[in-house]
Amino acid sequence: MTQRPAKMVPAKIINVLGATGSIGMSSLDLIAKYPDQFSVQILAAHNNADALADLAERFKPAHVVITGADGYEQLKSRLADSGVVIHQGMDALLDLLMLDCDLTINGISGVAGLLPSLKVLEQGGTCAIANKESLVAAGAILMDTCRKYGGTILPTDSEHNAIFQVWSKPHHHAIKDITLTASGGPFLHATKAEIAAATVGQALRHPNWQMGRKISIDSATMMNKGLEVIEACVLFDLPEHKVNVVVHPQSIIHGLVNYADGSMLAQLGPADMRVPLSYVLAWPDRLPWAEQSIDLTAIGALDFMGLDHERFPAVGLARQAWNMGGLAPAILNAANEVAVAAFLDQKIGFTDIIAAIDHALSDMPKVAMVSTASALSDISLDHILATDLETKIRISSWLEERR
Ligand code: NDP
Ligand code: MG
Repeated sequence: MTQRPAKMVPAKIINVLGATGSIGMSSLDLIAKYPDQFSVQILAAHNNADALADLAERFKPAHVVITGADGYEQLKSRLADSGVVIHQGMDALLDLLMLDCDLTINGISGVAGLLPSLKVLEQGGTCAIANKESLVAAGAILMDTCRKYGGTILPTDSEHNAIFQVWSKPHHHAIKDITLTASGGPFLHATKAEIAAATVGQALRHPNWQMGRKISIDSATMMNKGLEVIEACVLFDLPEHKVNVVVHPQSIIHGLVNYADGSMLAQLGPADMRVPLSYVLAWPDRLPWAEQSIDLTAIGALDFMGLDHERFPAVGLARQAWNMGGLAPAILNAANEVAVAAFLDQKIGFTDIIAAIDHALSDMPKVAMVSTASALSDISLDHILATDLETKIRISSWLEERR
């Protein structure tokens, strides 16, 4: 019997934004394993022209974009005669995102990732959003845009990707609530005094995950989990009280869906972002890239504990911001971004981060408050971007005055 030739499937066209970061590099690591399945169209980064040029030489995208002010000339000389077209600035990136594409992975850090996701969704495209800050600051706008233009958002943050994997659509009506796990970060067992004295080096040392600097600090304060509670409310259209958080130091279970019949469906995997990234790259299929499954007998036991709100007030603050509604989540996110940057620059102490967010919410301009989270859809993009900027200026000066 003659064998039928294998059906040729065209390579998926992929854009990787935040290509030089932890999410970008993990995505490209997977893409490199399957050169016949994926073809890179755009690689974008902010400042790191050298790393971007290295990636361009390796992945031969049609376009590279440096969104920051520097690095364009460096890219031009590094990539002369390569055939890669070089661009500079966020506007150039937004124009390029109008090109046809199968998947855009958004691994930009901070609210700077908002406009690129919106642009992809406005084209009816598919966006794998790791960039949680945009979902926190402008969740309703992203979801509305996605619905309006027939786009697709693939949850990419590990916990949300876990929920996405075990969320059974036919049983939607029987979903009671969901649970996000938290490793507890580097200060899980630290006293309040030790947390107050935390250095940048200590805060960056995450026990389980290798990540960029901003999210590593978010994990240490546990504001990462706070942002993720809001991210889950947005992505899965749930009220805040249906998003539970449980501390699970091994980071093997990433998320669970709790059904009304008493079943809990969980997704397990190593603490490696390539697991959720491979899911979004291959979606709705799966990539057979993982050489080994996790060895449960080697792990032995999985531990779970409640969150200590006394030492880690961040999740409570995020829940409060979500329930305040209006621009409060955008304010929480902006205050966090500016305070984390100040901590990384060694200008403020570790606990000043949470103090700054607390202050930002309690000193919030009255106009920023709308009674319910659902009223978020009445808020314009310009309003959110202006509030982000205003909060960053307000909280920077507040932190400056306290020094
Ligand atoms: P990194 O700091 O490692 O990388 C950030 C990337 O974004 C870099 O490529 C950087 O470019 C680019 N970038 C930074 N600022 C801007 C800007 N203003 N405009 C455009 N591009 C910019 O971050 P991570 O990869 O760790 O995180 C990225 C996002 O994914 C965050 O929102 C984070 O919360 C989320 N996430 C990350 C996880 C992880 O494991 N790392 C897990 C789950 C979610 P350059 O290098 O040139 O500065
Ligand atoms: Mg996460």
